[in-house]
Amino acid sequence: MFILILGAPGSGKGTQGKILAERLGLPKITTGDLIRKAMLDDTPLGLEFKKYYDEGKLVPDSIILGMIKEQLDRPEAKNGAILDGFPRTAAQAELVDKTLAQRGQRLNHILLLDVTEDELIRRMRARAQVEGRTDDSPEAIANRLQIYQRDTAPLIAHYAQRGIVHRVPGTGSVEQIALQIKRIIGR
Ligand code: ADP
Repeated sequence: MFILILGAPGSGKGTQGKILAERLGLPKITTGDLIRKAMLDDTPLGLEFKKYYDEGKLVPDSIILGMIKEQLDRPEAKNGAILDGFPRTAAQAELVDKTLAQRGQRLNHILLLDVTEDELIRRMRARAQVEGRTDDSPEAIANRLQIYQRDTAPLIAHYAQRGIVHRVPGTGSVEQIALQIKRIIGR
């Protein structure tokens, strides 16, 4: 089973994705973590990522599509995965759809974490104090929210046509939200 967790930055994709992946015994593929790891390791790709990441801009598809393909093709993800942080653009969605279709698979569920913008900003600012993520600066936060609306939110309509989008209220306790997701997925 392939499940995409979709939502604005700060909506809790990582937290809920982790719970879901552990419960279903599926690997979680998180492009943001892969990008942060490459930056930390100072790889040539990491240096390239940093130019966009720190400003809260999307890493261009020309660089990220290869990484996404590689992750989907890993043996661990043969029978399913939780996708966190991608697809985030039309080109990424096309690649995911095509890669899975070639294997006779598809995205089964899209969980859309719904959180108001005020709450998103509050969470990211609070997280900045704790984690010190370089893209939690006020300017980068503003960019990320804007880019989500422009590039990623349109994917909701794309997947809604297939009837696989479930809107999950993203406010409440972590446990309450996880329970809602469990009800939706049915396991
Ligand atoms: P958030 O959802 O809070 O923005 P992520 O860790 O998913 O957190 O993403 C952080 C940053 O990593 C993004 O602003 C972008 O620079 C980069 N990134 C992550 N995933 C992608 C992706 N699929 N395509 C392009 N850039 C990405």
